[in-house]
Amino acid sequence: DSQNPHLFTVMGASGDLAKKKIYPTLWWLYRDGLLPPNTTFFGYARTKMTVNELRERCDPHMKVKNEEKERYELFWKINYYVAGSYTERRDFELLNKELSNFDNLSRANRLFYLALPPSVFDTVTVHIRNTCMANKGWTRVIVEKPFGKDSASSKVLSDHLSSLFAEDQLYRIDHYLGKEMVQNLMTIRFGNQLFNPTWNRQNIASIMITFKEPFGTQGRGGYFDEFGIIRDVMQNHLLQILSLVAMEKPASVHPDDIRNEKVKVLKCIQPITLNDVVLGQYIGNPEGEGDEKFGYLDDKTVPEGSNTPTFAMAVMRINNERWDGVNFILKCGKALNERKAEVRIQYHDVAGDIFGGKTKRNELVIRVQPGEALYIKMMTKTPGITFDMEETELDLTYQHRYQGVVLPDAYERLILDVFCGSQMHFVRSDELSEAWRIFTPLLHTIEREKIEPIKYVYGSRGPIEADNKSDAANFKFYGSYKWHKSHF
Ligand code: NAP
Ligand code: NAP
Repeated sequence: DSQNPHLFTVMGASGDLAKKKIYPTLWWLYRDGLLPPNTTFFGYARTKMTVNELRERCDPHMKVKNEEKERYELFWKINYYVAGSYTERRDFELLNKELSNFDNLSRANRLFYLALPPSVFDTVTVHIRNTCMANKGWTRVIVEKPFGKDSASSKVLSDHLSSLFAEDQLYRIDHYLGKEMVQNLMTIRFGNQLFNPTWNRQNIASIMITFKEPFGTQGRGGYFDEFGIIRDVMQNHLLQILSLVAMEKPASVHPDDIRNEKVKVLKCIQPITLNDVVLGQYIGNPEGEGDEKFGYLDDKTVPEGSNTPTFAMAVMRINNERWDGVNFILKCGKALNERKAEVRIQYHDVAGDIFGGKTKRNELVIRVQPGEALYIKMMTKTPGITFDMEETELDLTYQHRYQGVVLPDAYERLILDVFCGSQMHFVRSDELSEAWRIFTPLLHTIEREKIEPIKYVYGSRGPIEADNKSDAANFKFYGSYKWHKSHF
């Protein structure tokens, strides 16, 4: 199979995602010799341009080192560009003709990356299906979010796609599934006797999954406002992490065994209600610098008076034997105090306390970004001539434990997976439909009742109401833990 030609087409090659993510990723995979030897790249969009012009758009994002210049030239030598509409069959026939030039034995495998706005998605997929499919090889289609806006629109999209392609031809990207520590969840959980038997309601009090960004919409608020933080981050990235944290052990590591378990655990979650959430929207900080001075509503591209949340916390419950009574707290926001994505597994208080209430809960922290790490906050006797105790940690910091190991970008792993035909880290349609089932009623309520988000200041940790909510949801913050970075 890897000897056959592979034809990779970027639909929407003139766009933002193409130049910032897709072409750089293709270049890195090519540079590192990870792609099948006979791979050729094609760009397709309406904009008339040459491969050289396409290259100029991509250049600033490609991170080419001096010693790679020669190889970089070779990369562009196997790139082609075809200009055409998204609506006319004739244009896709021309694209097919171009592809066929590289496929004289009709054995090539074809990949299509749809980096296009949802408005042209339908016609493009129909035309691909009717004119551009591989002859004897396979065809795979990579799709980007948004996968609809709610259950109904997502179902329309899924039905449309399944009328054209088989599920095993569809690769729905959630790039969080390409991150090292997210991929590590399976091993951490099911490869350690230390964790596996304690991963349940008997031992765990609550779980917090967090995504924070230190910047606002940066003038792209028009796009964001249509979706809001729940659709942009929580319903997809955070819920994906939740399902990997909470699912039962799959029968094997086969992608469909894993995805079956993810669907099963999502089915145990009731739709979220307004009572389960705290919604926020950032305002400018008059004392801040630059962008920090401006709130969400100051972004000219945001509709006046918009209620769209830029911060959300949701407390979710999983109604099964493992998790009954354990709160899963999902939290995400823009314009906060830091950039991070992490999972916090907080264990119960120790029963039968003999230390006069001095122990703090154990916490297993899985830091997804930045600075991949896994650490366990735990109690220890204060070293020296004392019987006092203090909080410390068992710490696995990747940068130190795995010095010199290069962690590939999420998109690199995912695009390579598509070549290899591994759907493990892609979202199946039934997963998607469960995710929308959980969030759609809430999203509709927010929109119908024009729920006012709580204002929070740019650069803060978000609304204080969120801390009260997590506290009430049995997630304790002590404020006493001290991290000593000095030993590195
Ligand atoms: P984009 O730059 O707005 O659009 C890609 C290309 O589609 C454009 O270069 C343009 O090419 C064509 N196009 C744009 N608007 C159009 C319209 N109204 N009608 C017809 N054609 C139009 O989009 P993108 O940022 O690359 O994103 C592509 C897809 O990936 C979207 O679904 C987006 O939601 C998703 N996504 C993007 C990012 C990101 O970081 N940018 C991240 C995650 C997901 P021509 O005019 O040359 O045909
Ligand atoms: P911590 O200081 O006990 O804080 C835990 C979390 O509680 C914070 O991350 C913060 O997250 C939240 N929080 C902060 N103030 C709060 C408040 N007033 N009320 C409620 N929640 C509050 O422990 P930590 O964050 O795990 O560790 C402290 C620092 O050490 C961090 O910067 C961490 O990255 C670093 N550290 C690094 C490593 C490593 O790299 N290997 C290991 C150990 C510790 P939110 O703002 O997201 O709510």
